[in-house]
Amino acid sequence: MRQAADLPIAGRRVVLRVTVRRFWCDAVLCRRRIFAERFGADVLAPLSRRTGRLETIVHHLGLALGGRPAAALPIA
Ligand SMILES: [Zn+2]
Repeated sequence: MRQAADLPIAGRRVVLRVTVRRFWCDAVLCRRRIFAERFGADVLAPLSRRTGRLETIVHHLGLALGGRPAAALPIA
């Protein structure tokens, strides 16, 4: 289970709880025996706490506002 913040709805914070499938590899020489389902970086990047579309908006807000003000917004 992963959690990721997404774009707000009607000004309210949205958190997605995503069930991620895990796979096992039976190949004898494989060094990665267990691996989790991946989503595209534009959807939900590995280890990210935000969806790609929210990350894009937060990124651009950070550039426009100089970082600190954007961190206080309820979407992050
Ligand atoms: Zn493998």
